[in-house]
Amino acid sequence: MDLFEYQARDIFEKHGVPVLGGVVATTPEEARAGAEKLGGGTVVVKAQVKTGGRGKAGGVKLAHSPDEAAQKAEEILGMDIKGHTVHRVMVAAGAKIAEEFYFSVLLDRSNRNYLAMCSVEGGVEIEQLAVERPEALAKVAVDPIVGIDEAKAAEIVDAAGFADELKAPVADAILKLWTVFTAEDATLVEVNPLVRTEDGAIIALDGKVTLDENASEVRHPDHEALEDKESTDPLEAKAKANGLNYVKLDGEVGIIGNGAGLVMSTLDVVAYAGEEHGGVKPANFLDIGGGANAQVMANGLDVILHDPQVKSVFVNVFGGITACDEVAKGIVGALEILGDEATKPLVVRLDGNNVALGRQILADAAHPLVTLADTMDGGADTAAAKAAAAA
Ligand code: GDP
Ligand code: MN
Repeated sequence: MDLFEYQARDIFEKHGVPVLGGVVATTPEEARAGAEKLGGGTVVVKAQVKTGGRGKAGGVKLAHSPDEAAQKAEEILGMDIKGHTVHRVMVAAGAKIAEEFYFSVLLDRSNRNYLAMCSVEGGVEIEQLAVERPEALAKVAVDPIVGIDEAKAAEIVDAAGFADELKAPVADAILKLWTVFTAEDATLVEVNPLVRTEDGAIIALDGKVTLDENASEVRHPDHEALEDKESTDPLEAKAKANGLNYVKLDGEVGIIGNGAGLVMSTLDVVAYAGEEHGGVKPANFLDIGGGANAQVMANGLDVILHDPQVKSVFVNVFGGITACDEVAKGIVGALEILGDEATKPLVVRLDGNNVALGRQILADAAHPLVTLADTMDGGADTAAAKAAAAA
């Protein structure tokens, strides 16, 4: 889960990373009040969108009075930045910037450890710096067992080439950012710019934090409050509320399967079959997991059938712990539960434990929407054909 800058700012503050005051506003009036609360002096009005390059896009503006803050908020609210509409701004105390630096630490999956990156040339597009002058961006591997301790922080500031008098305060900020990374179970903490102000303070002026959602439920119940519910896809939200592993995609063939691997291959097979049927594509990823009883199946179908883009559904289940007869009963029960809400053709392919019995149950039920398929490829082809016919 990516956080908004203001959420990152709050988390930084909680762990002692030096930040400036910031107030969130959704209207120009609130922005004016925020600027007053910050002392009435110079503030920065910053678009809160989960994308970079806000500054370049005109989403970061200085304001020298509360009135001007309201005016800048008016300009920024509603702006579109790389496809993200600005619903909120953060009014932040203005900093007198002397120098801009860059720091990030992230999970480095390919090397099975963490990677810290640091540069004395922050503020600019860091990707561009990394390409054009890679020597200006220090990359330091961080052993996950040891983490960033004082020695590692010193190594990072040395590698980045900080002036001697800045090494200690920057290393101190890095240690605190590492605390954020570990204490909050983040996979990314990035500060661009980390600045030196004219009066010599080191301050995190921007923050990008990605939290590891796998850690949220058990280790960080408080992280749920950070979720951006209003821009979560409503179908994804509904699926999540029902404990389903669902990702909305852009196609027409709804997919239900059990086991992430099987569902992933089902997406591939449907996309491939769709090429022969006018280019229809899978509409979603949905893994109903091991216990595919009627209620779980109904919940899954309920989500998929409410996707207006879906024209047909392919149910591809391999009976393991839950045998095919149970899955078949689940499908029949789900169609009963959904009643008139089930309106789109369902192609069902079952295999595995008790497959003959499972198919028999579906054949006996003879639901007008259900077509049985013998193979995964065959089922994908039939589902794609039905979607194309309905499109
Ligand atoms: P981004 O463009 O989305 O990364 O947004 P940032 O928060 O990094 O802001 C972009 C740029 O605006 C920074 O690199 C700074 O140069 C400038 N900026 C941000 N906050 C302040 C501030 O408090 N004072 C001044 N003078 N400039 C700021
Ligand atoms: Mn930035």
